[in-house]
Amino acid sequence: MGNTLHEAIVSETTDDFVELLDQRTGLHIGFPRLNAADDLRAMLGDEFYRAIGQLGFFEDIAIAELRARQHEIRIRLQGEVRDDAIRGYGEFITKNVPYYRDTLKLDPSDLTGRDGLRRLPILARADLREHFNELLSDGVSYSDHLAEGRMVWTRTSGTTSERIQVPVDLDLDRVPPDYDRIWNLDHGDKIPRTAVLTTPRCSPTECWLSAATLEERTRFGTRLFMNSHIDIFNVPEAAIRTFVDELWEFRPDFLLVNPTYLQIFCSRAVSLGLDLPPVELVLSSYQYMSNLQRGVLGRLTGAPVYNIYTATELCGCQLGVECSHGNWHVREDHSLLEVVDDDGAPSEVRVGNLLVTTHANRLLPLARYKLGDLGRLSDAVCDCALEDWQCFELHGRASEALLINGERVTTRQFDAVMAFTSGVALYRCTQADENDLLVEVLPDTAGDLSVGAVAKTLGERLDCRVKVVPVQGFDAGPSQKFQLTRRA
Ligand SMILES: [Zn+2]
Repeated sequence: MGNTLHEAIVSETTDDFVELLDQRTGLHIGFPRLNAADDLRAMLGDEFYRAIGQLGFFEDIAIAELRARQHEIRIRLQGEVRDDAIRGYGEFITKNVPYYRDTLKLDPSDLTGRDGLRRLPILARADLREHFNELLSDGVSYSDHLAEGRMVWTRTSGTTSERIQVPVDLDLDRVPPDYDRIWNLDHGDKIPRTAVLTTPRCSPTECWLSAATLEERTRFGTRLFMNSHIDIFNVPEAAIRTFVDELWEFRPDFLLVNPTYLQIFCSRAVSLGLDLPPVELVLSSYQYMSNLQRGVLGRLTGAPVYNIYTATELCGCQLGVECSHGNWHVREDHSLLEVVDDDGAPSEVRVGNLLVTTHANRLLPLARYKLGDLGRLSDAVCDCALEDWQCFELHGRASEALLINGERVTTRQFDAVMAFTSGVALYRCTQADENDLLVEVLPDTAGDLSVGAVAKTLGERLDCRVKVVPVQGFDAGPSQKFQLTRRA
């Protein structure tokens, strides 16, 4: 006779398989069924039977201990999930994508898992431009996808010579599975009505003329692309009123925004005495959001603010999602993430260059694409619904990092210091010279700004000269975005 499974364990048995789900932790594990007996010990054999005992499947123990016991197997199982994803992806790209099949001369045996992937060359943005036609899949009919409304073409940001047209896969899920649990909502997992506010040129998926009506800017009935403005610090009052009216008319559940655009639009609306409709969630994307901004956005919208991380070149795949615990997880149902140093060697715990493999992307499959962003893999253990998806930190654009006392200071690292200041709604730090920072600050209407105090905090913590200047607005940087840090 064996032990009794804990009541939280759900078991499902087929002729040749036994599956067990621990509802306390979400661990789902399958074993080959050894024989036709009904007894669990006989079905699994002694070794696996002992193993599930060690995983706490028979015991009523504290959740923390249970998680600790199951941690290692979860990591191993997730590794197998990643290898499977790479294998399926490898079979597709070595058969259908000329760049991998003919130029790199890969075959499926080169991509059987993470080790094989790591041996592939890094794909830089210049490579993407140069090999663009070879990266399109000849196993996909783009015209059919377009006609069926499953795809649109859009342009990446950047200067004209850098911009490329890429296909966006509309079949991919925009919100992660189980998003109610990830973001602590009670939404029933229906498709959220989402209002999008970003740079005026285009969003990662859509380009449009601002003369279009609200109906014309609404896609699939659930996604409204709001009119933006070329100079957000000088938007006419009428445009702000229209922005608020449209929010009331559309009544979004989510706002998907460039954080600076939403911050300035909402601040203006509030200063005009206009009420904003309540929303469940603000999702920040398109550019790095500062901690100070997050606080202001939360106050202005009354909603939690989280990050979604993607890039236009990823063709609808997302790379990261921030959960309600503040951890960023790789969106592993779309993408895999590596971090490498400047020589391309794995950078296990240090900040390095992010490489993304969009394994769910069949329209322009990118393997080990170098985004130009910095980040770090984190060994944080998160107990949200995304527990098995790798945690990481985004540190901002490599080209926007500062160099202070010979050390690289990333946007994230600078922003962490800015979080110690008060009275600042938005800022832009320009490194003028070696160890010389000019920090322009937009005062927070809800706080007291002391320029001297901000300069002192930054100077002491970063050990450099800091000049702080209050401003009423900023001119937009490349691609109409607002950089937090930059080098002159
Ligand atoms: Zn989490």
